[in-house]
This record gives sequence, C-alpha cells and structure tokens, in this order.
Amino acid sequence: MPSLELTFLGTGTSQGVPIIGCDCHVCRSKDPRDNRTRTSLLIKAPDLHFVIDTPPDFRDQCLREEINRLDAALFTHAHTDHIMGFDDMRRFCEMEDRKMPIFAGEETMSHLRRMFQYAFDPPQIWKNYLRLSPNVIQGPFQLGETTVLPVELPHGKMTTTGYVFSREGRKLLAYFTDCASVPDVAREAARGAEVLVLGALRDAPHPTHMNFEQAFKTAAAIAPGRTFLVHLCHEVAHAKKELEMSEGCQLAYDGLKVLSTKS
Ligand SMILES: [Zn+2]
Ligand SMILES: [Zn+2]
Ligand SMILES: [Zn+2]
Repeated sequence: MPSLELTFLGTGTSQGVPIIGCDCHVCRSKDPRDNRTRTSLLIKAPDLHFVIDTPPDFRDQCLREEINRLDAALFTHAHTDHIMGFDDMRRFCEMEDRKMPIFAGEETMSHLRRMFQYAFDPPQIWKNYLRLSPNVIQGPFQLGETTVLPVELPHGKMTTTGYVFSREGRKLLAYFTDCASVPDVAREAARGAEVLVLGALRDAPHPTHMNFEQAFKTAAAIAPGRTFLVHLCHEVAHAKKELEMSEGCQLAYDGLKVLSTKS
C-alpha cells in the first residue's frame, strides 16, 4: 500500500506563536500545541525525503525532528515566512556532497534567485555552502516514484503553488496553504486525497487567507480521508478550537506525525 509519512515541522502563521511582545492567553499558553513555528511540512516517501518550504525556523525544526537527510525542497511562494530558512539546506548539501534539487513556480523561483543569488550563481564552490539544482515548475513532475501535480491558488496579488502528491495512482496528499480560496481546478485535483492540508488562519475573515469556515467548506467539497489545518494565528487556542472542528478536520501542531495510508 503506497504511503507517505508526514511530519508537521511548523504550523504557525507568519509571525509564529507566541508573537514577540504579546501577552494574550494563547501566546502565554503552557500547551505545547499552542507553540507554533512557521508553516512547513516534511514528507518521507519510501524512496525520497522532501520538505515543502523552508521557513525562518527551519534549522530549529530540523534539529527538533532530527532530520539527517533531505533529497529535495518544494516552495509554495516567496513570502518570508516560507523561505527564510533557505540557506540552512546547506548542511544537507554538505552531508551528501551534492546539489539540493529545489522546485518552485517561475515567480517564486525568481524571488529565490534574487534573495539567495550567491547560492544560484556561486563565485566559488565550497563543500559546506548551499549548492542548488533549480527546477522551475511547468506542470506535473516526479520526485522518485512520487508524482507531484502543482496547482495555482490565489493569495492576494500573488499566486501560491499548491501540491497534490500521488504514488501508484493513489492520491496521498494535497497541500494548500496561504490561499484566499481553493479554485475548482485545484479542488478537482485534490478530490478524494487521503490527506488534505489546508491553511486556515483564524475565525475572522482575512483578505489573503482562508478562515476556519472557508477551510471547513473547502474540505467538505474536496472530501479527503482526513484534513489537517495549518498556518494558525495566536487567536487559535488548540484545546478550545479542537472541540469546534468540522467532521474529518483536525488542527495540526508542530511535531505531529501522520501516515497517509488508505484505511
Ligand atoms: Zn505564510
Ligand atoms: Zn498573542
Ligand atoms: Zn503567504
């Protein structure tokens, strides 16, 4: 049975939770599930291990989860909360003495190239520096035996790349974060996936992110096996909010591990 092992490296919104200088009850919470680093997911397939996004907390997330191998990185978009740990992939280049394959849409890749120019056009190759093998996404692609279908999602004035992962013809995971909605094409691409990961910021509406109500409706339309919500802000107290979840939906939290197996 094909399967992916998922580890939620981070589940927080752009500033993380707690927020610097905030003394609200969630930022002061002793519940470890209310401590959220910026959103990122580790995916372990039987043949390859890859991450979606490298947030500012990426180094701490790698240490916390004892990640000692990384075969590729996929990027959703170039907002700083998704890319500022980019350079910390250098350690995986050093350990394996190889280039890191990265995958991103054209606009995202151009921002990465601008911000991390030294890694794209190195003046000199050092073994412990970040070395890249960049791949601009133009359609479905393979990561070993895993087929990856990219879809476009609206995120304010920009577009975010969502990803649907399949193995042996089975849709195992759809990952849609940082989007104001999930258009029909993306819904169809994700329909019936074993696991759906959706960005859901808070209860109140937001111009560029889905709130809980929108995420619940989107999950119901996609009808996955299970849905996990990420990119949560400090208005979300895990213990209280998990009692208000729509059927089949759960709040993710940092360190949560999920196996995408057909039950
Ligand atoms: Zn974000
Ligand atoms: Zn707060
Ligand atoms: Zn964003």
